[in-house]
This record gives sequence, structure tokens and C-alpha cells, in this order.
Amino acid sequence: MKSRDNFSSEVINAIKLQSAYICSNPECRKLTVAPALSDKMKVQYFGKIAHINAAAVNGPKYNVRMTVSERKAIGNAIFLCSNCADMIDKNKGDDYPADLLHSWKETHKEWVLANLNKGPQNKTVSVGSKFQSGGITAHIVNLTLSPIQADNDKQFDQKTFKRSMKVFDDDQIHRFCDALLSNGECRYNDMRRLEELLEFYRKPVNRYLNTKVEKLLEAFASKMPALASFVSIKNFDKWPYSQPSTNFTIQLRPELLRDTGYRKREEGDLEKWNNLFLELIKKVKAMKKNYEAFRKMVKSELHV
Ligand SMILES: [Zn+2]
Repeated sequence: MKSRDNFSSEVINAIKLQSAYICSNPECRKLTVAPALSDKMKVQYFGKIAHINAAAVNGPKYNVRMTVSERKAIGNAIFLCSNCADMIDKNKGDDYPADLLHSWKETHKEWVLANLNKGPQNKTVSVGSKFQSGGITAHIVNLTLSPIQADNDKQFDQKTFKRSMKVFDDDQIHRFCDALLSNGECRYNDMRRLEELLEFYRKPVNRYLNTKVEKLLEAFASKMPALASFVSIKNFDKWPYSQPSTNFTIQLRPELLRDTGYRKREEGDLEKWNNLFLELIKKVKAMKKNYEAFRKMVKSELHV
């Protein structure tokens, strides 16, 4: 018998509850539990508690350097729907590195906290909750506001939008997209700003913006997680090395990828990165288009 470092029932219960029984993949967020239809005492449940680094030798992302207790700890557990749990283990788990899963978990924690004590009738449910189409907070009810209320909410959203511009403004977003599209280049600081902007939009920020605007924002913001994780998890080189260490340019073009101190190029890497790069370009194009539409709508609705 091979030994497996399984989670204790305490860890299993804690991670289920902390995740609110909702899949931690930010692009999924399925609710995984509901009453059974056949039996009043039963439930339908399709949640899974996955190991970030495998519980047994030969499992996905097994890490020999971890101790048994680290492998069994809640820090190594992530709550997912059964579909996402299967997905992350395909190709020996190579497509979903541990760093990415840790960032999903962290994002999910913030999202659950931001949605605590909020219901679908509440106008301040986080923007992030609207990415999904079928979860518990997916039904956005458009409240009819009194003129005074609407005006206050409009002012609130104007301020909010101006705050978002301090994170990553119009010009910076355009420069970021254009540098990627024209030359496959990305500034380290812009990548950080993109992540920050995403965090900003995940929080409950908008009161006035109507469904039209929310849809556009959703389309724009839903492209960002994949983009940010693509750029941040891969060991892209900052060659040439004479660049400043705090704001260097990363060369994302596959033909420029080279061995780094962390990673040797392996057979098949170039093809894999080529595909990732093409996907990235598609995402940047979609993000840019959605951002422009979102921006136009904000201008006409909020006059900022
Ligand atoms: Zn899922």
C-alpha cells in the first residue's frame, strides 16, 4: 500500500465552510451543495477538497521537500467543484501550478469575505460575484432608486471610478495593451497594477452603474485573472539583465524565452509557450475592446 497524506476531518470541515461550499476557481464559483430531490434528509453535493501539492508520491505536483504535516495542513488544501478538481490534475497538474492554486484560494477567501451577509437583492454585492451565470449571487436585481438616492449613488460611483483610475489609468491601460500586442512586452509595474485593479473591481464598489455597464465591466474584468496569472506564474525572463530590478520589461515573445536560474527549457516548451502566447494575445485584444466599451459607457453614464 502506498501511503497518502490525507487531510483530517477537521481540515476538511474547515476548508468546506471557509469556502462557503463554492468552488475556489475564480472563473467557476459554482455552488456545490443543494437539497436532494429524492430524500428530505439528503443533499446533492459535488464539492472536492484537493491537495495543492499531492498527498502521495507520483501524484500531481508532489513536493518531496514538504513534510507530512505540511502536506496534511489546511494550507495545502483547496475547495473546488468536482469538475475543477479533475481539471487541475490533468497533465500531472502541470497546467495549474501550485502558485496559481494558492492565488485562487486567496482570491476566493477575499471574495467570500466581501460577500458575507449580502444577498442578491443587495446593490453592493461585489462585481466579482457577477462573473458567474448561475451561482447564488448571480441574480442582480435592479432596484428602482428614488431621484435623491440615485444622485447620491451616482456620486459614489464617480468617486469609485476616479479611485480606480489611480490604480491604473486610461493611458496606462492602453500603453500596457499596446506594448503586449505590438511587441510582446510587459512592464513589471504594469503587471502589478493590473492585479491591483482586478482586486479593486472584485470588491463591492458600484452602486449606481446599471446592468448595461455592469455587463461590460464584467466582460472586461473577467479577462484579467487569466491574463494576470499567465504573466505572473511563468518564469519569463527580464533579459537584458541590466534593467532596473523594480520596474523591468518582461519579454513574453516565445522565441525570446531562454533558460533561467529557475527553469531549464525542456522539449515541447516552445510549442507550449507559443500556444499560451497566442491565447494571451487573444485575451489582451478582448480585454482592450471590452475596456473601451466600458469606458465609453462610464463617460456617458457618469460623465467621468
Ligand atoms: Zn469549479
